[in-house]
Amino acid sequence: MPGFPAGKLAGVRCPHLTGDLRCALFGTPERPRVCVDLKPQLEMCGASAEEAMATLAAWEALTDPGTVST
Ligand code: SF4
Repeated sequence: MPGFPAGKLAGVRCPHLTGDLRCALFGTPERPRVCVDLKPQLEMCGASAEEAMATLAAWEALTDPGTVST
């Protein structure tokens, strides 16, 4: 990930996300493969940025290694 040589931590805003919530690397070879391959889904994105952030926060909590039981 450009800007994160050791990897991006969950919850840390990507430095390539612009103020109007667009990817500054879109269409460039520097855009990470994981971002290129991620296909938006209604289940993930919802109908608004607020809904998407709420879903992401819930998924983060559900998959937090410190709280996931085995
Ligand atoms: S698509 Fe990837 S590189 Fe672009 S803003 Fe989002 S996380 Fe950052």
